[in-house]
Amino acid sequence: MLDVAIVGGGPVGATVAALAAPAGLSVGVFEARAAPSGDGRTLALSHASRERLEEAGAWPAAGATPILSIHISQRGGPGRTLLEAREQGLPALGYTVPYASLEAALDARLRAAGVAVRYGAACTALTLEPEAARITLSGGEDVAARLAVIADGGTSASRIPGIAFAEKDYGQHAVVGAVRVDRPHGGRAYERFTPEGPLALLPVEDRYALVWTAAPAKAAELAALGEAAFLAALQEAFGDRAGRFTRIAARATFPLKLRTINTPVALRTAIVGNAAQALHPIAGQGLNLGLRDASALADLLRAADPPDIGSARMLDAYRAARRRDAARGIAFTDFLVGAFADGRRIPTWGRGLALAALDLFPPARRLLAERMIHGSPS
Ligand SMILES: Cc1cc2nc3c(=O)[nH]c(=O)nc-3n(C[C@H](O)[C@H](O)[C@H](O)COP(=O)(O)OP(=O)(O)OC[C@H]3O[C@@H](n4cnc5c(N)ncnc54)[C@H](O)[C@@H]3O)c2cc1C
Repeated sequence: MLDVAIVGGGPVGATVAALAAPAGLSVGVFEARAAPSGDGRTLALSHASRERLEEAGAWPAAGATPILSIHISQRGGPGRTLLEAREQGLPALGYTVPYASLEAALDARLRAAGVAVRYGAACTALTLEPEAARITLSGGEDVAARLAVIADGGTSASRIPGIAFAEKDYGQHAVVGAVRVDRPHGGRAYERFTPEGPLALLPVEDRYALVWTAAPAKAAELAALGEAAFLAALQEAFGDRAGRFTRIAARATFPLKLRTINTPVALRTAIVGNAAQALHPIAGQGLNLGLRDASALADLLRAADPPDIGSARMLDAYRAARRRDAARGIAFTDFLVGAFADGRRIPTWGRGLALAALDLFPPARRLLAERMIHGSPS
């Protein structure tokens, strides 16, 4: 019997394992993929997430690009604001990290810590009993653990008794890609609100990662454009504040939804990361919130006596520790999507006023940066 069996070796599941294993617990990670995903997505991580990954021994220093400032503006309306690391007294507001670099750093850390990661081992069924959770793997093998941690990005939580999903379709898709510009980015990220949806450029290595949200038909049209036509459309939507766009590579589209569950715990089970909440990427909060789930759960695991692992008392403490931060992260992201993507809720001048107020009022700017960096106190 394992102390902890983690279903899903993505960034959140692997971080739980990396934080919990040094405490002498027996931890197994069961990952459906046969090999590293090579996912081309770029993640924006906060300063606090960097500290968490450093604690886990898995900060991918070589692949991380510091974000020194974030320029926020709206198309077709007044107002802009600039959040700067200097103003927060931090070396960086956050960092961008290619998903694949983070995956490689966590993988190396787990190997060094002697954690058993089983690739090609998809969980096909979960049986929950008072004394143990039983995970059935794709080959038919059963694994028992005091605690099952569901970190599968949201593919199976619906099958857990007592867990109900809620889904909100924003009616938007994200077009992502790697963009090159004719000048250095200087560590500046951009978030531009347009009537079709937000458009973000994140500095990563010597390029930008683009996240451009639009209605599904428009996103499909953008994804299918030739390179020159795509760059012209991007320049038109974004303007020239970052320079002239010269290349776009690795375009892909994702549907954007908010998916939440009624509670992150069930008998002998804790649910973390995207399996617990999958957010719109507008504020780059998804993985940051997931890493806070991982950290809170690992703190409880490290402090527990083995018989207490997976007990109702421990799971109640986990639920209480995450309730407020998760609810606020979800509400904050959902508010931003509504406020900036839907002109009927807040008119353009109202958004301009809010951005201008943020620009003129450093404490409000600090509060916004603080919330994005550290989340909400629990
Ligand atoms: C376009 C886009 C941009 C984003 N940008 C940002 C950003 O800038 N900042 C940020 O913080 N977040 C961002 N996110 C969100 C971020 O990608 C997720 O929050 C993060 O990947 C969640 O990590 P996870 O480990 O919970 O899940 P995942 O990354 O989904 O990993 C889940 C793992 O579980 C495995 N798995 C699935 N089913 C099973 C099974 N049955 N058995 C075993 N294993 C299984 C999968 O193979 C996978 O490896 C973005 C998301 C999108 C779509």
